[in-house]
Amino acid sequence: MPPIPFNRPFIAGRELYYIAQAVTLGNLGGDGVFTQRCARLLEQRFDIGRVLMTPSCTASLEMAAMLCQLEPGDEVIMPSYTFVSTASAVARLGAIPKFVDIRPDTLNIDEMLIEQAITPRTRAIIPVHYAGVACEMDRIMGIAEAHGLVVVEDAAQGVNAFYRGRALGSIGHLGAYSFHETKNFICGEGGAFCVNDKTLLERAEILRDKGTNRRKFLRGEVDKYTWVDVGSSYVPSEIASAFLCAQLEQMESISERRERAYENYRRLLQPLADEELLKLPTIPPECVSNHHIFYILLPDQPTRDALLRFLKAREIMAVFHYVPLHDSPMGRTYGYQTGDLPLTENLAGRLIRLPFFYDLTPGDQERIAATVAEFLHASPARQPELAASGV
Ligand SMILES: *Cc1c(COP(=O)(O)O)cnc(C)c1O
Repeated sequence: MPPIPFNRPFIAGRELYYIAQAVTLGNLGGDGVFTQRCARLLEQRFDIGRVLMTPSCTASLEMAAMLCQLEPGDEVIMPSYTFVSTASAVARLGAIPKFVDIRPDTLNIDEMLIEQAITPRTRAIIPVHYAGVACEMDRIMGIAEAHGLVVVEDAAQGVNAFYRGRALGSIGHLGAYSFHETKNFICGEGGAFCVNDKTLLERAEILRDKGTNRRKFLRGEVDKYTWVDVGSSYVPSEIASAFLCAQLEQMESISERRERAYENYRRLLQPLADEELLKLPTIPPECVSNHHIFYILLPDQPTRDALLRFLKAREIMAVFHYVPLHDSPMGRTYGYQTGDLPLTENLAGRLIRLPFFYDLTPGDQERIAATVAEFLHASPARQPELAASGV
């Protein structure tokens, strides 16, 4: 049987046509028609004050950290169960990531633990919407307001997902989206920066454009453009934006496909959940998911590791993530150690992400579910032997 990859990039509509059009139009640098079109589409659809397209979510998070005016020694509250960019964006300015444990249902930051992590050096909170399921944003915004903190939503996985009717990325002062090839809507490498707090917009535009006031110049607001602040090159190419534009136009059909595949996994794996051999993801009623990830939780880490080997031997490329950041070599330099965040460590050790992409077929999913069932139905004593047995 053919291998089933973990992820496969896809074409959903006019991607190649738009790239050809961008080339014909003769502007492949930043902020041409396609970059503008992507930004306006996201603003309108998600009711975001202003969207600036970027080369990655990492770039957006870096801009957010700069806008928070972090100084060495300042602290930023975030989960440890996240991708490195959430923490590296603040660490590169000398600020300290303050890792908080997660909720066992959504694997999102536990909002009940945030307040006790606040110190006089705390400047911001970065909630990460894991798997496209929202953090408890009402409570997080309330805490931020009470303590004068900036909220930056890491909505890398949260494009077209909602919390109490509001789009993820539109709720915090700032938000960051990813269009990396592993996300729901893709352009290879790409991102967007959501500026909901208008007071931060002028400086955001300057940071994005190499520390110059070129945006103002192009709008005719100043008569020359010059170096006015620090900054970097955070404008994406028109080629990437042309590809992305075609994907965003197909947002509905891409999302429907993902929802169907997600529900199909749930249906196929529910019997194993009923037998208590694994746990399926939870989506709280106030959240509308974009079905970014389908994960399963196994009873313990040895079972998880053996199942991953078993799937790999049958050419099913499931993966796990994340190595909790507090337990990483870099995390340890901040004084963290194993045992500091028990739920994060426990859940990260038991999780498997199943293959999930646009072209995944119901047949693929049946094969994956049957393979998982074959393994979990073997007695615990036989499982390690099965995992080692190869094809
Ligand atoms: C993918 C991801 C990022 C990084 O996105 P890039 O566009 O690859 O920079 C950041 N945070 C989270 C939670 C992610 O899943």
